[in-house]
Amino acid sequence: MSYKHILVAIDLTDDCHPVIRRAVDLAASVQSKVSLVHVVEPMAMAFGGDVPMDLSSLQQQQIEQSRERLDSFVAQYSLLEGQCQLAYGQPRQEIHRFARENGCDLIVVGSHGRHGLALLLGSTANDLLHGAPCDTLAVALSRK
Ligand code: AMP
Repeated sequence: MSYKHILVAIDLTDDCHPVIRRAVDLAASVQSKVSLVHVVEPMAMAFGGDVPMDLSSLQQQQIEQSRERLDSFVAQYSLLEGQCQLAYGQPRQEIHRFARENGCDLIVVGSHGRHGLALLLGSTANDLLHGAPCDTLAVALSRK
C-alpha cells in the first residue's frame, strides 16, 4: 500500500523535527506529497472557558507567532509539496477535518509515550486516533 498525501500535525516545538523528518523520509520512499498543519487552540478553552477578561489581542498575537514559527518550519523542509495550514480550534477536529477535505491518507504525529497520570490527562496523539479518517502514525519521541 502506498500513501499519496501525508499530513504532519505539528505543535511547533523542537520535537517537530523528528516527526517531520519521518514523514518526509516516508514520503520520499512512496512519492507522496506532504502537508503540514498546526492548530491554535482558543485561549478561552485553555483557561477553562470562563475568563473575565478580553483575550482577543493576546489570541491574535499567538496566531501571528504561530504563523511565523510554522513558516520557519516550512522553510527548513523545502521538500514539502503539499499545503501548510494554520488552523484554529480543537486539534483533533481540525486535523481530521483537514485530512478529510484534502484527501490525506496518513496522519503523522509525535508521541511522548506517556504513562501514569500524564496518560490520564490525555495526549493529542491518543486523541487523534479516535475517529481518524485514515491511518495514523505516532512517531516515538524521547520522554521528558
Ligand atoms: P502532545 O500530546 O501535546 O504531546 O502532542 C503530541 C503530538 O500531537 C505532537 O508531537 C504533534 O504531532 C501533535 N500536536 C499536538 N498539539 C498540536 C497542535 N496544536 N496542532 C497540531 N498538532 C499538534
